[in-house]
Amino acid sequence: MAGKNLYDLLGVNKSASDKEIKQAYRRLARKYHPDVNAGDKDAESKFKEVNAAYEVLSDADKRKKYDKYGDKWQYADQFEEAERQQAQYRQYSPGGGATYHFGGDIGGMDSIFEELFGGGRTRGFSRRSQPRRGQDLESPVEVTLEEAYHGTSRTISLQMETACSACKGTGMIQNLPCSACRGTGVVPDIKRLEVKIPAGVATGSRVRIAGKGQPSYGGGPSGDLYLKITVRPHAKFERHGDNLHVSVPVPLATAVLGGEVQVPTPKGKLALKIPAETQNGKSFRLKGQGMPHLGKSERGDIVAKVNVVLPTELSDKEKELFRQLSEIRPA
Ligand SMILES: [Zn+2]
Repeated sequence: MAGKNLYDLLGVNKSASDKEIKQAYRRLARKYHPDVNAGDKDAESKFKEVNAAYEVLSDADKRKKYDKYGDKWQYADQFEEAERQQAQYRQYSPGGGATYHFGGDIGGMDSIFEELFGGGRTRGFSRRSQPRRGQDLESPVEVTLEEAYHGTSRTISLQMETACSACKGTGMIQNLPCSACRGTGVVPDIKRLEVKIPAGVATGSRVRIAGKGQPSYGGGPSGDLYLKITVRPHAKFERHGDNLHVSVPVPLATAVLGGEVQVPTPKGKLALKIPAETQNGKSFRLKGQGMPHLGKSERGDIVAKVNVVLPTELSDKEKELFRQLSEIRPA
């Protein structure tokens, strides 16, 4: 029956109502009924065709699928599932998953037909004459500022695809879409991979891991994996490019008389000498103690901002000394 339009078989047009379809069917069923056409092979096959057409067009759900997918209407669920899965792959998947970027040649219903039923006689991946490079994958990775400072590594899970073993990647078993992969020829495959995250990454950095993307089907090179970095905000350090700004508490006496203070850095504390009469809010630059420049040996700076801490819970003696001081130096 393939190739014959079901509406034509019943002699109705595509917009025919349920009633018109029913009437057309009754008329033709009577006409070709074996009881009135004994021994007529043509009439018998016509009768079967008319019945089969009516079975589809009298059922609202089947008719809808037929209108959309034609002769392949029985695979509508598989088409839709394949389409749904592809749409899902295109979306960003949070929680360590990866995004599968489809190439420009996949999309829309036509290409799914093409995927499932093939333009030529060969099907699945062998259909392609040119080996295609595997798709790039992207995986979000969140690191702490300390990890970004020193560089780190992660084991990430990638949602990849692998050729379906049931149909050997062809998508078809005995001319029907494979049920294991729903006709797509590929099944999801979770791959774990240890990746290095270089020192100096920042939020928005894309770290390329060459050749660790989706493998190619048909002998082409694999795609690349991109790590999409987010650096978590830090309680102490504020990052400006490769410079780290940090607030340093300085006792009043040290600010007034000068002395040494401890400046926090991601690799521990550094001593900083400050001069006498250092004002509150003054910044000191510790050259080359900041974040590494990604991919280079230079580093940014630490910018240490003085935060003078006034004494509290003064003793009577201390209060007396401040009183004397205020008499010597009235405001
Ligand atoms: Zn399969």
